[in-house]
Amino acid sequence: MTTKTGLPWPDGCLGAVSLTFDDGRASQLQKAIPILAEHDLRATFYLNPKGDDWLDALAPWREIARAGHEIGNHTIGHPCSKALFDDPGLRCLERMTLAEIEADIVEASREGIPEQAEFSFCYPCYQEHVGEGLTRQSYVPVVARHFIAGRGQGERGHNIPATCDLAYLYSWKAEFLTAPTLVGMAEQAATLGRWTIFTIHGIDDGHLPLSEVAFRELCGFLARQRLPGAPTDAHLDGAGGGSGEADRSLERVIHHEATMTRSSLVLLTSW
Ligand SMILES: [Zn+2]
Repeated sequence: MTTKTGLPWPDGCLGAVSLTFDDGRASQLQKAIPILAEHDLRATFYLNPKGDDWLDALAPWREIARAGHEIGNHTIGHPCSKALFDDPGLRCLERMTLAEIEADIVEASREGIPEQAEFSFCYPCYQEHVGEGLTRQSYVPVVARHFIAGRGQGERGHNIPATCDLAYLYSWKAEFLTAPTLVGMAEQAATLGRWTIFTIHGIDDGHLPLSEVAFRELCGFLARQRLPGAPTDAHLDGAGGGSGEADRSLERVIHHEATMTRSSLVLLTSW
């Protein structure tokens, strides 16, 4: 079933965009949050809850969760493939088992934001395996067991609601991109009826920076083109309520309580 518009989204909506931020960088608090607030937008922030002073470091993020943003799980140890480093040390995905990565993920959730009943996961370095060669295994099933959604990176940054794997969603890397490129990608979500997810690290900060100017332009575009307010049940009436496989898939994307796919989902309307 599709809605009156013939698209898989609720009527009046052509596509959707989610903004996600990795690694809990200070520039996200200092620059991204005020810009999001100016535009009445919500986002998802993936943290690594580590260190003796973690509860102190968590304090500002609790405020952010109360303002309607999602605080997601990015593991404690942020393990990545040894193939990315000259000397990865002992801790890398190739030297981990499924039980070890699961223990890290579960521990990170325990140190998370208690007020959030459910939240999503973000794969460190976008990678979803442990072991290598003959022992290599995907840990996507671990994420699927513990979370309503997992964000990775794909060949394409947009997801097709009817067919996407919620446990490994595609995203676009936003670092170094210009405002016209970012806005073009968001427009593409509406043009193609897709769900586009952006991955952002620092704002004018760190080794994967997105400029404040470009981020502000993207937020301006989303604010102008969005269906007003966060998606509500009223917006979603008529979408995903059918019995077909595509409808069930869309329902998973927009009807559940994950803030990446609900409160912080920006539904785009026509322009
Ligand atoms: Zn990261």
